[in-house]
Amino acid sequence: MNQVEPYLSANRIAYFTMEIGIRPEMHTYSGGLGLLAGDAARSAADLRLPLVFVTLASREGSNRQEIDADGNQIDNADPWNPEDYATPIGAMVAVSIEGRWVWIKPWLYELKSWRGHQIPILLLDTNVPENEARDRTITNRLYFGDQKDRIKQEAVLGIGGVRVLRALGFRIDTYHLNEGHAAFLSLALLDQHRISPIPGIPEPFKYDVHAVREKCVFTTHTPVEAGHDNFDYADVRRILGDVIEIDQLKLLAGRDRLNMSRLALNLSRYANGVARRHAETAQRMFPEYKIHTITNGAHVRTWMHPAIFNLVKNLVPHWGHEPEDLLKADQVPPEDLWAAHQQAKRELIANIQDSVGVKMTPDAPLICFARRMTGYKRPNLLFADVGRLNAINKRYPFQVVMAGKSHPRDFDGKGIIRDVHHQMRALKEIPMAFLPNYDMGLAAKLVSGSDVWLNNPIPPLEASGTSGMKAAFNGVLNFSVLDGWWLEGWEEDVTGWAIGADGGDASAEAHAEEFYNKLENVVLPMYYDNRARWIWMMQQTITKIGAVFNSARMMRRYATEAYIRT
Ligand SMILES: *Cc1c(COP(=O)(O)O)cnc(C)c1O
Repeated sequence: MNQVEPYLSANRIAYFTMEIGIRPEMHTYSGGLGLLAGDAARSAADLRLPLVFVTLASREGSNRQEIDADGNQIDNADPWNPEDYATPIGAMVAVSIEGRWVWIKPWLYELKSWRGHQIPILLLDTNVPENEARDRTITNRLYFGDQKDRIKQEAVLGIGGVRVLRALGFRIDTYHLNEGHAAFLSLALLDQHRISPIPGIPEPFKYDVHAVREKCVFTTHTPVEAGHDNFDYADVRRILGDVIEIDQLKLLAGRDRLNMSRLALNLSRYANGVARRHAETAQRMFPEYKIHTITNGAHVRTWMHPAIFNLVKNLVPHWGHEPEDLLKADQVPPEDLWAAHQQAKRELIANIQDSVGVKMTPDAPLICFARRMTGYKRPNLLFADVGRLNAINKRYPFQVVMAGKSHPRDFDGKGIIRDVHHQMRALKEIPMAFLPNYDMGLAAKLVSGSDVWLNNPIPPLEASGTSGMKAAFNGVLNFSVLDGWWLEGWEEDVTGWAIGADGGDASAEAHAEEFYNKLENVVLPMYYDNRARWIWMMQQTITKIGAVFNSARMMRRYATEAYIRT
């Protein structure tokens, strides 16, 4: 009957996500949340887990970043054609938005594991002739527009997604809500579980909440209250109508505003944070609910440079299926590991030269800071004391490469990008480059070709972070504030280095001081004077971090702790 037929009987877990990083040419993601979903899908396929993924088509992507001569970020649409990678499915469903029926067409992308198994990803698209012009664009651009646009997108994802799965014949036992964006799916499920009124008996609640809870699990990624999607009930009512009565919705999603995380928590049988520290933070934010921990992981095969991959593959042939086998990667001969690393580094250096014309050398250490350019990540902490930076560079020359986008409306973040460009230009003696348009392809080059992976957010605001894991798979050493996953992966002088102490002074001044001191007295001297120890740390970081912080471990844990009913 249709292209999803082969999946209908087995694929009973539906993973709903606003964004997913499938491949660089498909602009269906914006950042870490999407890459995490992509790595989850890749490992689900490797492990033959019965998942179907549901996301938006995002034909115009999220934001292609250009930088002008003065260091200003210019925001562009980032179009791609679903036609080139996915197949249209001959079915449509409709969701009522502002009283109009908005039609949703799913595209099927089949993600194939290198082990042969494949899983379906459904991309929801409102760009169909049946819709009015204003509705065709709902699914076009990820995280764009205002709160009202966001409600529409989330309604298409959540309510539309449930209807699409149903229309296609999927029989879903468990819905995984990847972040609060997906929480409207529970409204579609509630609608399927109306309790028929019994004459004469008062109805406290019109829906079988318990039945819906039994079907949902929720992963939160946000450590601050303000970061959770929340909407004005008047907007919700105007846009969604009475998909569920507003008085009933308020009981589930908060009295004053509709909080998507609260809605998700009230309608999920299981909820988790994405690192131990983050789960503790989320637990304090939502004391009435039990927040479990499943620490994130990244997909080793995707993020490990082919040169490193070949060394490891020869040593432990089954490691791809059993990432625990990466524990044996410390048997890779140091000189081979160094040669593979230098190859990745030369590729990155060539890329930097091509992209922005800055010359770098494979003989000096290369420090990378690549992540979303936003206030709490403190991308300019590095420049807190440029005099000190210059002095350190005189003793131990080093190089810096940076990359990252700001959200189009994050004017603080954009200011930081401009500031970083001005600082880089002023620091004439230190080779520095900012590479535009940080995406999946650029990330792969940076996480393999750098020597040091720098991260200095304000704790506890980094829920997990995954780029440091990708770096570690390549023997790139993490140098990071103790927050998110690094609290679990960090062993000082073994897997990398801490900036500051856990619970210590987290001011920018204190962290900058710690960073400069350790850079000058520990990190750079080891690179120049104790290369053997440096390479030993590269081996330690591949084995100890690779064997644990991979998405195969993460998805096995979702399978046995979240998806399975206890
Ligand atoms: C892995 C990845 C991220 C997330 O990493 P963080 O450590 O959370 O910054 C973001 N963007 C891209 C392109 C990535 O590959």
